[in-house]
Amino acid sequence: MSQCPLPDGGPGGLAMEFHDKVLKCSECGAEFVFTAGEQMFFADKGFKNEPKRCKACKSKRAETGGGGGGGATRSETKTTCSQCGKETTVPFKPTQGRPVFCRECFQARRSMGAA
Ligand SMILES: [Zn+2]
Ligand SMILES: [Zn+2]
Repeated sequence: MSQCPLPDGGPGGLAMEFHDKVLKCSECGAEFVFTAGEQMFFADKGFKNEPKRCKACKSKRAETGGGGGGGATRSETKTTCSQCGKETTVPFKPTQGRPVFCRECFQARRSMGAA
C-alpha cells in the first residue's frame, strides 16, 4: 500500500545547463527559439542580453546595413597606391612591406599577368 518515495534529486550541480527558450521578436513580434547552443555561445562570449530579434529580422537588418547615421560601416583602410601614388582605399588591412595598388593599377597588373 505504501509506495517507496521517489528519489528526489534536488536542484544544484548543473549550473551550466541550458534549455531552449522561446523569445519574442521585438521587431515583428514572432516567437523564435533561443536554443541551448546559442545560449551556451552567448554565455561563452559573455553576452548578457538575450537576442531581441528573430533570425529573419536579424538577417534583414544585416542586409540593409542596420540603418543609423552615415559613414562607412565597412572597414576600408586608406592607403597609397604603390604604383601610381594615388590615394585609394582597400577593404583589408594592408600588410606592411607589401605593395598595395589602386583599382586601376590592380586591374592593369592583372590583365598584364593574364595576357
Ligand atoms: Zn522578427
Ligand atoms: Zn595606382
